[in-house]
Amino acid sequence: MSKLDAIRAAEAKLLLSTYDRNPILFVGGEGVHLIDEGGNRYLDLLSGIGVNALGYRHPAVEEALVRQGTALIHTSNLYFHEGQAELALRLTERSGLTRAFFANTGTEAWEGAMKFARAHAGLLRSEGKQIGTRFLALEHSFHGRTFGSVSTTHKAKYREPFAPVVPGVDFVRFDDIADLRSKFSNEVCAILVEAIQGEGGIRPLSQEFLAEARRLADSTGALLIIDEIQAGLGRTGKWFAYQHYGIQPDITTVAKPLAAGIPLGAVLCTEEVARAIHPGMHGTTFGGGPLACAVAIAVIDTMEKNQLLSNATEVGGYFMDGLRTLAHRHEAITDVRGKGLMLAAELDSADLAKEVVAEMLKRRILINCTSDTVLRFLPPYILTRAHVDTALAALDEILAEHAGAAHAAAAAGDVKHG
Ligand SMILES: *Cc1c(COP(=O)(O)O)cnc(C)c1O
Repeated sequence: MSKLDAIRAAEAKLLLSTYDRNPILFVGGEGVHLIDEGGNRYLDLLSGIGVNALGYRHPAVEEALVRQGTALIHTSNLYFHEGQAELALRLTERSGLTRAFFANTGTEAWEGAMKFARAHAGLLRSEGKQIGTRFLALEHSFHGRTFGSVSTTHKAKYREPFAPVVPGVDFVRFDDIADLRSKFSNEVCAILVEAIQGEGGIRPLSQEFLAEARRLADSTGALLIIDEIQAGLGRTGKWFAYQHYGIQPDITTVAKPLAAGIPLGAVLCTEEVARAIHPGMHGTTFGGGPLACAVAIAVIDTMEKNQLLSNATEVGGYFMDGLRTLAHRHEAITDVRGKGLMLAAELDSADLAKEVVAEMLKRRILINCTSDTVLRFLPPYILTRAHVDTALAALDEILAEHAGAAHAAAAAGDVKHG
């Protein structure tokens, strides 16, 4: 039995069956490539679902890991360490928000954001303002798997097995301003959006919708909360995707690429929101630990020093143009969307999307399919044009083979029926 088969058999017996894994055993990585047990290299256009923004074995990450890992890994939040204020400074300078809370993961940051919105509404009520406790989230949203987060996540299959989820959430049709207006009232404490939906299929909100959400929230004192866990920290070519819109949220959340694979999330907010938070109201044992903060500081400084946001814009634009060219050549591509290195090609069938992901894997290129029909690309920010050329050539070949097979099948059908 191969090592992979042995692990698969053991996992099948020992783990909860929450994942449908691809049958590959990775043992290492270098740059934008993952390396399997046989020493084969895979071009990674998914980077651990948007986490490994600096790719694998980046010297700045390794240096921070060794330096902080040998000095101090954990203190708890009962004491000070050097990392949190330094990292908060970097995040507040770049986000336009002024306060940070550190958590461990995306979903935990989102839970914090929801709790802070409820606490803020409570503070406003204590000051005599009329504001309720309801949330408005969007259709196709994804905010995580814990109870609060999953309550604001649209897909029924993520919520329904665990019902009842947190009450007080209404879903607004994606990018539908009339629906947003009709569902908004002073019962709402926060409007929750991703500026560019990730799991929902790389769908950017329109300028008009986000501006209207900002205006409605301002009209009652409700908060606009933008989830930047997938789109944020440089992936779209700006530090935060909302910066493409020129619209500031009251709260934003970040996580995935923040500490290069060491779990770390953050909630960033305004002074107005921070007013509602006092010692003991919220906290975490691990969140914002010295190791995670040291790595995150190295990640942000490296992105800045190596101009990786410009690289995301430049190589992302090249990738997008290439996908558009493919869309002209292949009818199966119905849409190309995204910004920077957060890109998607939507196909006309879910079966084909699955097949393309599998064919890419055979060619040792990692992508995935989200929202059934959407091929998603979330590569490391260190991607080059040469990597993009490799990926586009493979996609072109796979789609051409598919079209050829479909034609042959149709021709065979004609013969049979004729
Ligand atoms: C991945 C993701 C989350 C959840 O993050 P986890 O670290 O998996 O809990 C929340 N929001 C968005 C937009 C995400 O992409």
